[in-house]
Amino acid sequence: WAKADGKGRWTLFDPERNAHRVTRQALSSTLRPALDRGEFALEYQPIVGLDDETLHGAEALVRWRHPRFGTLGPDRFIGLAEENGAIVPLGRWVLEASCRQARRWLDDRPHNPVYVSVNVAVRQVWDSDLVADVERILDDTGLPPGLLQLELTESAVMGSAGRPLQALQALSEMGVRIAIDDFGTGYSNLAYLSRLPVRALKLDGTFVRGFRTARHENPADETIVAALVQLAHELGLTVTAECVEGREQAERLRGIGCDTGQGYYYARPMPAPSLTAWLSRAST
Ligand code: C2E
Ligand code: MG
Ligand code: MG
Ligand code: MG
Repeated sequence: WAKADGKGRWTLFDPERNAHRVTRQALSSTLRPALDRGEFALEYQPIVGLDDETLHGAEALVRWRHPRFGTLGPDRFIGLAEENGAIVPLGRWVLEASCRQARRWLDDRPHNPVYVSVNVAVRQVWDSDLVADVERILDDTGLPPGLLQLELTESAVMGSAGRPLQALQALSEMGVRIAIDDFGTGYSNLAYLSRLPVRALKLDGTFVRGFRTARHENPADETIVAALVQLAHELGLTVTAECVEGREQAERLRGIGCDTGQGYYYARPMPAPSLTAWLSRAST
C-alpha cells in the first residue's frame, strides 16, 4: 500500500511541481535585473558547408549564468521572457553582443568572413522596433549587413501582414539575411515563404533524426528532406540542416544537396574564444 499512499500524497501536494513553479516565478521576475547585472552569455555553434566542411557562420545561443542555479539553457527562460516582455531588452542585448563578436571575427579574418545567426522571438518583431535596433547595432558595430542572419520561426512570419512583413522587407533591403528556424515543425508552406523576403531554411532536427537509423530502414525522412531541399533550391532558398550528429547523416545530407549543417557532429555550441580558435584552424 506504500505505493498507493505515495501516489495519493503526490496528487495532493507535489513538492517537485511546487518547487518548479517557485523557480519559474523567481526566474521570470529576475530576468531584467539579471540582464543589468550581466548574467547572460552567448555561445556560438558552427554552421558548416556540407561539401567541404568549411565554416560559413555561427549561431548565437544565449545562456544564463545564474548565481544560484548554475548555467541555464534558453529552454528554461526564453518562454518566460516572451511572456513578460523581457525578451525585448534581452533580444536586443543578444543582437548587439553577436554583431560585436562577428565584427571581431571579421577583423581577425577579413578574407574568411563568417556570418552570425541570431534567433529573434516573435515579440521582438511585434513589440519593438526591430528594424531601428538592427540598423543602429550594425552602425555601431560596423558589421556588414550581409554577415547578419536573423532566425525567425514559421509562426513569426506566417500570415505576416502589416508590421512584421514591413520589418522583414526593410531588413532584407538592408542586406540582412532572414532564415526560417526549425522549418517543418509548423504549418507554413514553401510557396508562401518564397513570397516573403526569406533567404534560408533551417530544417528542424526531427527530420535529420530519422536518418539515424540504419541505411534504408527509414527512407521516408530522407525522401522528404530530398524533396524539400530541391524545392527550396528552386525557390532560391539555401538550406541548413540542424542537429547533424553523425557522419552518415552528414554524408546523406550532402548527397541530397543540402547546403550547410549544424550539429554535434561538427561542434557543440562554444564560448566565443573557442570559436575564434576553430576559425583559425578552419581557414589555414
Ligand atoms: P534553435 O534555434 O533551434 O537552436 C538549436 C538548438 O539545438 C540549440 O539548443 C543547440 O544547442 C541544439 N543543438 C545543436 N546541435 C545539436 C545536435 O546535434 N543535437 C541536438 N540534440 N541538439 C543540438 P539551445 O542552445 O538549448 O537553444 C534552444 C532554443 O532556444 C533555440 O533553438 C532557440 O529557439 C532558443 N534560443 C536560443 N538562444 C536564443 C536567443 O538569443 N533568442 C531567442 N529568442 N531564442 C533563443
Ligand atoms: Mg535557431
Ligand atoms: Mg533551430
Ligand atoms: Mg531546433
